[in-house]
Amino acid sequence: MDDNLETLLAALRDHGCAVVERGGRAMAQCPAHADRTPSLAIRYDEDEGKILMHDFAGCDNAQILESLGLGWEVMFGESSPVRNPEPKFKPTYGHNNGFGMTLGEAIEKGLV
Ligand SMILES: [Zn+2]
Repeated sequence: MDDNLETLLAALRDHGCAVVERGGRAMAQCPAHADRTPSLAIRYDEDEGKILMHDFAGCDNAQILESLGLGWEVMFGESSPVRNPEPKFKPTYGHNNGFGMTLGEAIEKGLV
């Protein structure tokens, strides 16, 4: 059993959510919506070394973690680097070569 899974399940219980564990998997009441029957499926993926969590009612993991006051690190484990859930925007500079114009224009103006 993964420590982070324990942390996550303990946080759910502290939040008053019913948690039913079954050998490395768990079903829990979702903390992010008024959940009467457990909608939240949680399991620890040993190959990936991370926790997989899915709310059948449709809450996303960010909402669930926020409700519990937990960060993404609880999902991905301490041993692996925390992956940014948002893909980083990579600026592309295109024609910006420092002249604010294309190379062709710079040559035309005799700047290169
Ligand atoms: Zn939910």
